[in-house]
Amino acid sequence: MTEDQHEALVAVEPGWFPNGGYFACGEGWFELLLGLLQSLKAAGASAENMKVVQVKEKFGTLRFYVSLETEDDALRDRLYGIIAKAEAASESICEDCGGGPTERKGTKPRSWIRVLCAECRAAEAKALGIAP
Ligand SMILES: [Zn+2]
Repeated sequence: MTEDQHEALVAVEPGWFPNGGYFACGEGWFELLLGLLQSLKAAGASAENMKVVQVKEKFGTLRFYVSLETEDDALRDRLYGIIAKAEAASESICEDCGGGPTERKGTKPRSWIRVLCAECRAAEAKALGIAP
């Protein structure tokens, strides 16, 4: 994430990020994350009942971990549902540019699985010194 993107994400609800927030994923997922945070807020997540614990990419998919403090099971289900939907959506959004269509795989011979569009895959292969 760029500095501006980072600020925009944290600004949705600074109380969710007591340590300033860290988004360990590419800039292509900015819109996805912004929409996710806004949806959580609209659905009833607040600085009092939720903290964002970790946001990262793993196996080409967004992982978004929160700690919830609520006795309201309906709220809990609603928030986890929103998160699951965003994590699933990340599988078809290029992590570098936000475009598509995408493929989730490793750029050979590197084994790290990432979700990228064809152009970003070629750029990654070039950066890794691998012929496309
Ligand atoms: Zn791309």
